[in-house]
Amino acid sequence: MGSMRAPVVVISAIVVATSSTGSAQEAVLLLPLSCAIAEVDGTPVVTQEWISRQVEHANAIFEPARVQLSLLDSRPLDRRHARLEDRNDRHALGREMVRDVINCFVVGSLRDVDDPTVFRQGVHWRPRGIAGGHFVIVSAIAGQTVLAHELGHFFGNGHSETHDNIMSYNRGDNPPVFDESQLRRIEQRARHFIRTRELVMREQLVLPLALLHGVSRRRTPQH
Ligand SMILES: [Zn+2]
Repeated sequence: MGSMRAPVVVISAIVVATSSTGSAQEAVLLLPLSCAIAEVDGTPVVTQEWISRQVEHANAIFEPARVQLSLLDSRPLDRRHARLEDRNDRHALGREMVRDVINCFVVGSLRDVDDPTVFRQGVHWRPRGIAGGHFVIVSAIAGQTVLAHELGHFFGNGHSETHDNIMSYNRGDNPPVFDESQLRRIEQRARHFIRTRELVMREQLVLPLALLHGVSRRRTPQH
């Protein structure tokens, strides 16, 4: 893993369909995501595959909002960010942000700032001194849907009390989902981020739903 210093391009090609089959209603917003992975002794705290699985889970859950994440790159993050102990450690990541993308920082540990006996799996954070700036932090101990949950916050959702909602801490056996109002908020917020150029879609980043493969179109889980 020590040799993976250069950014890894995960998606190599995305086809744009501009034909009549791709109506505006079916268009999917493919938003740029950039991950920085903390290293300890030159070893990333998670593997590239681990990141890809988090993104896959997020995309499956975000699909009904017609919003998908495109992992542009995955780069090393200096070891001083490997263990986040307090608010200042989180704020310090603001200086590591990349413009025009959703920033995700993967760290070795993420201590709760209110209860120091607790370690968090992830958080959505607004760094001090960067107007409007926000990013997600995911810990190496995170379960498979933690990136999806934190991105749920990124797109304006609070917590939910509903069983099996992705924004709830109360999960059962069913795959977690967003409800209709959350899905609407995500799509609206995504469009807002594009309009204000907080997020800049790369070329060829709009594609019709039918071209997305490997992503379930079901809104309700079957098991
Ligand atoms: Zn949360």
